[in-house]
Amino acid sequence: MTSNPVAAGAGAGAASAARRESAVRAAVEQGLIEADQPVVGLLDVAGIRSAAAELRTAFDEVVAPGTPVLHAFAVKAAALVPVLRLLADEGLGCEVASPGELALARAAGVPPERIVLDSPAKTTAELHEALRLRIALNADNPQELDRLGALIEPRGEAASRAPHGQVGLRVNPQLGGGSIDALSTATATSKFGVALQDPGAWNRVVRAFTERPWLTRLHAHVGSQGIPLELMAAGVRATYELAEEINAAVGRRQVDTLDIGGGLPVNFGSEEFTPGYREYAQALLTTVPGLFDGRYALVTEFGRSLLAKSGTVLARVEYAKSAGGRPIAVTHAGAQLATRTVFAPESWPLRIAAYDAAGRPKPTAPGGLLAQDIAGPCCFAGDLVARDRPLPQLAAGDLVGLLDTGAYYFSNHFAYNSLPRPGIYGFTTDGEEVRFATVRSPQTIEEIVTESGGDYAGGLLDL
Ligand SMILES: *Cc1c(COP(=O)(O)O)cnc(C)c1O
Repeated sequence: MTSNPVAAGAGAGAASAARRESAVRAAVEQGLIEADQPVVGLLDVAGIRSAAAELRTAFDEVVAPGTPVLHAFAVKAAALVPVLRLLADEGLGCEVASPGELALARAAGVPPERIVLDSPAKTTAELHEALRLRIALNADNPQELDRLGALIEPRGEAASRAPHGQVGLRVNPQLGGGSIDALSTATATSKFGVALQDPGAWNRVVRAFTERPWLTRLHAHVGSQGIPLELMAAGVRATYELAEEINAAVGRRQVDTLDIGGGLPVNFGSEEFTPGYREYAQALLTTVPGLFDGRYALVTEFGRSLLAKSGTVLARVEYAKSAGGRPIAVTHAGAQLATRTVFAPESWPLRIAAYDAAGRPKPTAPGGLLAQDIAGPCCFAGDLVARDRPLPQLAAGDLVGLLDTGAYYFSNHFAYNSLPRPGIYGFTTDGEEVRFATVRSPQTIEEIVTESGGDYAGGLLDL
């Protein structure tokens, strides 16, 4: 972990750092962050567009011309309608996993043929709605296939061109986990999909397809942060081999689409975007050459890798104190925004940037950097986003930036202490002027009271 992230990086990384530095200063100048709004989320629109373009290009380079490829952004990584619209403008779709996420994708204007529904716990009503809307969906298990059969087959729609969306089955190649247990979806006992290496499972899946002509896709999402590229590629290979076997068994190309999931890890240690989409696409080309030869349409479901590097949490230092010899900066960004980092600091370290009250990078004092704890506003002792971190000495009124937080941080609020969801602003800059657009306005105290049962204040007394 670099202690001075502001200075790190070269090329695209340096350009993105420069945009961020301009945006931080402008956020102060334009009053987005101030005493009453002591924390905001900032999103770099150029960074998001460039990540989306890199993803498209990486696959365009390896697929046979004319192969349909849908890049469906995993909405849970940044469940923000304007972000989904921006990505749709870049040609992406949405991977959704709940009625709420589906509603966000629709509110963003994403067309049904670019939406994929995955969730391990879809209700019958959700399945019915997905079929009605003609969005694609991936069933998680045999019971769900039976429910789908009951919805699809009586309507006589088992014929070749079904008027419902495409239906697939999620499989778990059981290849093992990565360095973060909670995000390892391909372990032997993972809760997701049909466990392919369980006794008899492979053959049962082949049979499930032969009995259901409307089942046309296979889906695997082998992991997320902490999973090596080779393991991801091996999971895709197992899925591809299963598709080949199913198609051989039924004697036609029934499986016509492979959904290879997301999971490209993010480099939280520097400005660099590594591993890149190109590296992953090349790993797939080496491990599963047949994947790209045009016989299968492809779906990807990347989340964090598309957004993480483009997001910054900017928070004011309210107090700078000291306890037991340890300097502590008490800021307004803690577990409510950086939930994973606070609860699992070993797995989710974040780079922290130090700014003065005007949003300029804080210079290092002649004495050098000072190891400090960066604390949040939540009322529990563990609410620290960094421990013993060498940084320029912070003072009350300064700002800290939590870098690479565009995915799964400020967009995945944790409502501890009834702390409000902060405002989120997208920015662009031409090098001189920085322009902001509201992505989400800050939650108001009135909204918190309403969401917390304010309309039913006396409800428990009336029982
Ligand atoms: C979360 C999730 C993704 C996205 O994972 P990232 O690590 O954010 O790329 C894709 N597909 C499924 C099914 C998921 O649950």
